[in-house]
Amino acid sequence: MGAAPPSPATRELAHVTRGVPASDGDGVRMTRIIGTPELNMLDPFLLLDAFGSDQPQDYIGGFPSHPHRGFETVTYLLAGRMRHKDNAGNEGVIEPGGVQWMTAGRGIVHSEMPEQENGLLMGFQLWVNLPARAKMTAPGYQEYPPAGVPLEVREDGTQVRVVAGTTSAGTTGAVRNDWVTPTYLDVTLPEGLEFEQSVGADDNSFIYLIEGDLQVGEQGKPLAPRMLGILGAGSRVSVRTAGGARFLLVSAQPLNEPVARGGPFVMNTREEITQAFDDYRHNRF
Ligand code: MN
Repeated sequence: MGAAPPSPATRELAHVTRGVPASDGDGVRMTRIIGTPELNMLDPFLLLDAFGSDQPQDYIGGFPSHPHRGFETVTYLLAGRMRHKDNAGNEGVIEPGGVQWMTAGRGIVHSEMPEQENGLLMGFQLWVNLPARAKMTAPGYQEYPPAGVPLEVREDGTQVRVVAGTTSAGTTGAVRNDWVTPTYLDVTLPEGLEFEQSVGADDNSFIYLIEGDLQVGEQGKPLAPRMLGILGAGSRVSVRTAGGARFLLVSAQPLNEPVARGGPFVMNTREEITQAFDDYRHNRF
């Protein structure tokens, strides 16, 4: 009999960022949290935008027709409705708790427009990079209504909406990923409770606190609402709340490949970005 194996290291809160106010599409106001001078990327995550406003002028313009190449866009809504339409023939409206996972691959042209003229629109868009071998893959589109996103309800009242990946209790998300396979959880934690989730030891992982209070890791460092916390090394995420919390936990193995960005295109080299603009101008998407 050997000694008991050491318990996997708990990830501590390593860095916190608020992001910066930004405007994109046709004047949509948002907070850019990943993809900023402070946090250029968190491999394989290229961008994270949080939008949330009940002022129509902040979102009514939406994101009219525009292209993407070389990565995947993940839209997850907390409030409101948005309509997606693309040149591969996909169209759908996502609602709170619903998710849209678009693989731009070699090229897609889409629009993302609010399906409402007033009221609250709130949610996130995350860009997940594709490995070099998949950047020119055929475009793909997955859309799940709220009822299609598995909801794990634990005996203690914790609720985990599993957008992607598998929880430590065994609930697997709806999204099917062929390349990067992130864990993407929306966790609602009742007051006084703790939440644990195992993640890959090599993953880059972050928590975004939507509301409430959260203490991270064994050190219990606090994360404030609407802040993103990057987690340090380890294979276990452990957080607790005093008064209750809702947060996103997102984690994935980094690609560790060169990244060349050009607006809506993300490739590995400048030449591939030039090619992307040329292909788009000549209607080869
Ligand atoms: Mn887009």
